[in-house]
Amino acid sequence: MTLFFIISLCISPSEVNIGDVFRVRVVSKENDIKAVFIEDTIRFVKRDTILVGFGVVPYKTEPGNYWIKLLSKNVVDSILVTILPTEFPVETLIVADTMVKYTPKTAKRIKNERENTVDVISGATPYILFDGEFTPPLSGIMVTSPYGVKRIMNGIEKGFHMGVDLKAKKGDEIKACNDGIVALAQYYYLPGRCVIIDHGLGIYTYYIHLDSILVREGDTLKRGEIIGYAGSSGRVTAPHLHLGLYINSHPANPLSLIE
Ligand SMILES: [Zn+2]
Repeated sequence: MTLFFIISLCISPSEVNIGDVFRVRVVSKENDIKAVFIEDTIRFVKRDTILVGFGVVPYKTEPGNYWIKLLSKNVVDSILVTILPTEFPVETLIVADTMVKYTPKTAKRIKNERENTVDVISGATPYILFDGEFTPPLSGIMVTSPYGVKRIMNGIEKGFHMGVDLKAKKGDEIKACNDGIVALAQYYYLPGRCVIIDHGLGIYTYYIHLDSILVREGDTLKRGEIIGYAGSSGRVTAPHLHLGLYINSHPANPLSLIE
């Protein structure tokens, strides 16, 4: 029965690092297929007979082989993905106390803004809003701080770097990595001027520390459209672009998806 309904099932790449995005492709006569990977549900979009879904390896995953299990009414099938041991550097920063200690009013504001951001990136638009590859938000990509770096600020562990910092000068054009809808365009305390684009299927890109924003919440965007200009708004020491990518609410390494 499985052979009849599933013509092929593949993943690319089949070996991934922590934080990396992988694609699952299924050729099938079934329309309604889901996949389960660790605790995540991977949603698929169908183009002709090919179903495509995107998964990500959550940051705290132990290296090893994991099954991706396909589920639908008529089909049960699975494929292995190998998660490679991934070493992340530790970065120790000493900053002014005012950058890490907040008044109760500011702490409350930060908490509210963080909760709102989590709400936005936890959405799961069940359809796809893009067509084609993700492209860089800046012309000429130079990473100044990679994904996954463990940060210790003034001796206090601050978790890991949930995106990549890209070299940018004040006023550099920041472009949408792919088609989508603006899910958030705000001035928040820590990220400064920030934009989140919903690309559908639970995929979001996140652009922060902008000098100015040219889009509004609800706007429909095409890949490459200018969403704003780079700057140093929020808690930063110099202009740059922090680019984030969220899939199924997990912070992923954006460079694993961008061509
Ligand atoms: Zn950053």
